[in-house]
Amino acid sequence: MCKIICPVCEKQGKKSKVFSNGCSSTLMAFGNYHDKDGNYHYHDFNITTEYYECEFGHTFIRKGHGGCPSYPEYCDFKPEWEILSTTNKEDE
Ligand SMILES: [Zn+2]
Ligand SMILES: [Zn+2]
Repeated sequence: MCKIICPVCEKQGKKSKVFSNGCSSTLMAFGNYHDKDGNYHYHDFNITTEYYECEFGHTFIRKGHGGCPSYPEYCDFKPEWEILSTTNKEDE
């Protein structure tokens, strides 16, 4: 879930360093609790928008939310991330 790969470089079979350009997040209530078996749950419904730029100047956005720490064993609150590629200065 913490693995960030530049989608443009990935398409070109390149590897690149990726820098975070900040993020913004909606502010909604979320729940964290321990269930009857002691498993920790953290259900964050906030949609976070994260901005990234790779060392080749490609910028892209990652949008979504993380999953519950007990997922997938004890919970079905799964991480959902969507990568939006925004610029590609080079031709493919
Ligand atoms: Zn790139
Ligand atoms: Zn959970």
